[in-house]
Amino acid sequence: MEEKIAELKAQAAEAIAKTANNLSDLNDIRVRFLGKKGEFTSILRGMGALAKEDRPKVGKVINEAKAQIEELIAQKNEELKARALEEKIASEHIDVTLPGRQQPLGHLHPLTLTLERIKDIFVHMGFSVEEGPEIERDYFNFEALNLPKDHPARDMQDSFYITDEILMRSQTSPVQARTMQKNDPNTPIRMIAPGRVYRRDEYDATHSPMFTQVEGLVIDKGISLADLKGTLELFLHQIFNENIGVRFRPSFFPFTEPSAEVDISCVMCHGKGCKVCKGTGWLEILGAGMVHPHVLEMSGYDPSVVSGFAFGMGVERIAMLSYGVDDLRLFYDNDLRFLSQF
Ligand SMILES: [Zn+2]
Repeated sequence: MEEKIAELKAQAAEAIAKTANNLSDLNDIRVRFLGKKGEFTSILRGMGALAKEDRPKVGKVINEAKAQIEELIAQKNEELKARALEEKIASEHIDVTLPGRQQPLGHLHPLTLTLERIKDIFVHMGFSVEEGPEIERDYFNFEALNLPKDHPARDMQDSFYITDEILMRSQTSPVQARTMQKNDPNTPIRMIAPGRVYRRDEYDATHSPMFTQVEGLVIDKGISLADLKGTLELFLHQIFNENIGVRFRPSFFPFTEPSAEVDISCVMCHGKGCKVCKGTGWLEILGAGMVHPHVLEMSGYDPSVVSGFAFGMGVERIAMLSYGVDDLRLFYDNDLRFLSQF
């Protein structure tokens, strides 16, 4: 009996040492020797044939052998686990000297950059930034700005009508009318209204049916043409440069009186005359004027108490002149070769 036990123990030890290459093999060996139907269990079952006085002695030898095998299995188990961990670490090791993976980083669109610069300059002069709906009522887009239904100047900015009374706004001026009407007529206004506007226009190098506008409005007691001129000159010197020439030409807008077109000296030829300025040395950059008394009245202001000035400009035009871009469509084409230059 003892010999058989010693032999089994040796077999188990050998199996553990030589054939257990992973945790699953090791478990099979445990089942084979120590399991319910294992080799040692069958020896224990055979103990009934032994003499009574021999049984405790043999039982003790069996238990010792089992304990030793358990011990060997436990050791092997640790060893296999450690090896598995090492293999895992080796397979997952990180080469810290490899260069990092760069995430492509976008940036603001040139029109957004230009608009931000425009806003910055006016905010520094104490203007607030107001916004309004792009789908607008005819009343705010035209009538409140002194453009009744039959006014010929409406043709200059014919828009996309949704119904007879609702249209895509053709200018951001309705935001001014809305701000005036919600404002207490005793509080001064100093605001700009930036945003997209829509007109039935060609799509070519200098026109687009959708473009970005910034309009401004100042209303207070004692506002004069000198304030208008000073504000716009300061703005143009800051957005272009200190040395740029600025001139005001008489013009007509239904909502201002007097009205002016504002030109800057050509940024390309510095006034000498070139293709961009069509040989004149000047570039038209914005429209402006003193707010028409009728417009003030329509929004609840008393023209005998307050006065104001208003102006409007195209953001695309300013971006084209500041960056030297000669085709408006480049801003909308989403061509990365163009956009990544800003
Ligand atoms: Zn020029």
